Formats: sequence, structure tokens, C-alpha cells
Amino acid sequence: MTDDSTTLRAAYYTLGCKLNYAETSAIGRMLAERGVVRARGGEAPDICVVNTCSVTETADKKGRRLIRSLAARYPDATMVVTGCYAQLKPEEVAAVEGVDIVLGSDEKLRMADFIDAWRRDRIRRVEVTPALDINTFRPSCERGDRTRYWLKVQDGCDYFCTYCTIPFARGRSRSGRTAELVEMARRVAAEGGKEIVLTGVNVGCFGLDTGESFLDLLKALDGVEGIERYRISSIEPNLLTEEIVTWIARESRAFMPSFHVPLQSGSDAVLRLMNRRYDTALFASRIQFIRSMIPDAFIAADIIAGARGETPGEWEKSLAFAEASGVDRLHVFPYSERPGTRALGIDHIVSQEEKHRRVAALSLLSDRLMRRRLQEMAGETRPVLWEHPASPEDTVMHGHTDNYIRVSAPADPRLYNMVTPTLLTGLDPEEEETMAGVPQTDTI
Ligand code: SF4
Repeated sequence: MTDDSTTLRAAYYTLGCKLNYAETSAIGRMLAERGVVRARGGEAPDICVVNTCSVTETADKKGRRLIRSLAARYPDATMVVTGCYAQLKPEEVAAVEGVDIVLGSDEKLRMADFIDAWRRDRIRRVEVTPALDINTFRPSCERGDRTRYWLKVQDGCDYFCTYCTIPFARGRSRSGRTAELVEMARRVAAEGGKEIVLTGVNVGCFGLDTGESFLDLLKALDGVEGIERYRISSIEPNLLTEEIVTWIARESRAFMPSFHVPLQSGSDAVLRLMNRRYDTALFASRIQFIRSMIPDAFIAADIIAGARGETPGEWEKSLAFAEASGVDRLHVFPYSERPGTRALGIDHIVSQEEKHRRVAALSLLSDRLMRRRLQEMAGETRPVLWEHPASPEDTVMHGHTDNYIRVSAPADPRLYNMVTPTLLTGLDPEEEETMAGVPQTDTI
């Protein structure tokens, strides 16, 4: 895909989740196969690709703001917008000044063809397949940050939680095939990759559409030589079965002792209103089971503050449960009203002010839990995978322990992309939620 005389340059912008980042990389790779190079810092791109998120009203707003600022900065660039916001509200996105092409979830991996067509006829296009008709799945495995790879194993969701628009943005649950995903992991190993994070919208639903099993996928990936670490990005508590936890604890070679399990509310009444597939008793039993099998596992949970139906009484229950649940960290999200969701029919509405108060209380709780956990780990020696820093001039490097604690140490290029035993000396006074570490390099 070249102009008459020049090579086209594209710049990529991503909002939202890891899955979006992995997909943007896949789009970049696909355009590169058609001769489009990545615009370097300072170069004006010929094409701007914006991969949007629509998890909240704020995410939509961020998307519009980003598109407008890019259009003002690069008025001659072709502006392509895709992602969940484009899928859910294509006309709203198309109405933002400067947008040339809007592509839905199914169309984004044919982006090169749409850009070609635009460059031929300059006709603006809005191409979006209704989400519930999408049944294609394209696995992708991309370097998500400077060291880790993200392997997309599943897309879409059939759960239809009452507050969530994702099933309408990404369609029904569908999965990759184990053999293909294992092949991708082998390619990562051949490139020198050491860690892979399994991503998806609802990864625990892997295989329900193909007859394969999630646990069998984990076992097959575990056998790929060269990959030293795997993590599951996030998994619903009802799908993180005791069988999976037992296998990770007793047999797995490379699945790490870190888990991210959405809670969303610590009130059973609110969980029912949300149409979640578990109650607090099941959540608590999963966390206890993980702790009994893998005592040093680090467990994070998502929680929503101020959802509809979260009356003062239910809020008190939610906060108390979150504190007692045994998780080490909370990712706190304020409830966001999304047009078209069933949650809008739920009666009790929490005021903005009260919602902010609840977010602050949960964030404080999370800080306390996390700090306590980090302090307990001071003095331990744990394996850390050191990451390439953002700039070669950086004097500090970062890495993560097996149980996903962020660690800092003076930069040492010999250690980038290597796993070393590392003494955790205590909380890093310079950086939040980070331990200071001393790599034990005498074995290198
Ligand atoms: S499980 Fe619920 S919250 Fe998660 S993507 Fe599916 S519908 Fe949304």
C-alpha cells in the first residue's frame, strides 16, 4: 500500500484494555505486511489509527478528545477509528470532525483494504457488522509491552452482566484453537520471549464453542520450551475451577502464582442485580482455595463502587466483604451508566458525590491491603523478570516477581529479559506499589 512516490507512515493510538493493545499491534503488523511503516516520533503520519474503548462514558469522551486533537495536529492524515466505541456508536464516532473511516470489531482486521479504498475514492466509510452476528475469531500474539507478550485466546462474552456493554461491542464468546495458540507461543519463544499473558474478554469461556477445554490449553502451552512464565490476565471466579488451581499449584511448570479475579461487589443482592454468575460465598471459597494451594499467590480483584441498587446497607456489606475476602489488591471502578444496558432499570441510584466517596474508601482499603502484603514480602528472595526500560538512558530498571509484584533496581542491561533471583529489600520510597530489589547476579 504505497502512494505513487512515498511509503505511507501510520501512527497508532490505543485506549482501554490489554486486548485492545494486542489488537492494535496486530493491526500494525497487518498494515506493515502491506508496506505501511510506523511513523517515528516527530514524523507526521499519513494514517492515524485510533483503537477506542467504550467501557464508560469517560472512555467515549477520551476517544472523541483524542480524535479531535489528532485531526487538528495532522489535518492531512487519513483518520481510521475502530474498537468498542466505534462498534457501539459508529454514527457518533463518524460525526467527530476529521474521521474518515469507522470500522467495527469484525472489520478492523481488513483495515488495509478500507484504507486503500479511501485513498482511491475519498468516500468516507462506516462499516460495522452488528456485534451479535460476529462469529469470526482471529488469534493474535503481540509484544504487549517491552518484555511481555499478550496472547489473545478468546473474544466476546455471553454473560450479559446488566451493567456491561462488552457483549454488544465484541459479540458472542468465541475461541482460538489450541494447536494454533501453541504454535504462536512457540514463535514467541523463538523470538526470545519469556513471558506470555493469556488475554480475552472472558478467557475462562475458552473452548465452549469449539469443544476444547481451557485447562487443556493451559497444559499444552505449559509444554512450550523457552517460555518461562504464563499468566491469565483475568478470570471469572466461577470459571477459575479448583481443578485449574490444583493443576497450577501441583503440576504446572510455568503458570505463575498470580491471579486477577473480578469481584465487582461484595453484596449478594448487588451481584444478583448485576447478573453475575456467583455469590460472595463462591468468591470467598475460591480465594481460600487458592490460598490453601498456593500460599504466596498474589490475588487482585476488580470492584465497582456505587452501582445501581447499592443502597447504603449493601455498600457496607460490600466494603466489609472486600476487606475480609483475602485479596491483596482492588482495582476500583466507579459505576458508569451505559445507554442500552439493563442496569438502567434498577431502582436505587447512587449520587455522584456518594460514588466518589465509595471509590475513595475502596481505594484506601486497597492501598492498605497492598502495603501490608508488600511489607510481608520484604526480605524474601524471588525470581524477577527484568524488563527493557523505556529509554536506554534510564538509570532504573523494573521487573515483576513470579507473583507479579513490581520491583525496581539500578539499571543493568545484562539483565534485561532475564529472570534472576532478587532480594526484596522493602518498599521503594520513590515509587508506589513497588519493592526495591537487589538482583543476585553471582550466578550470571
Ligand atoms: S463477564 Fe460480564 S462484565 Fe465481563 S465482559 Fe462479560 S458481560 Fe461484561
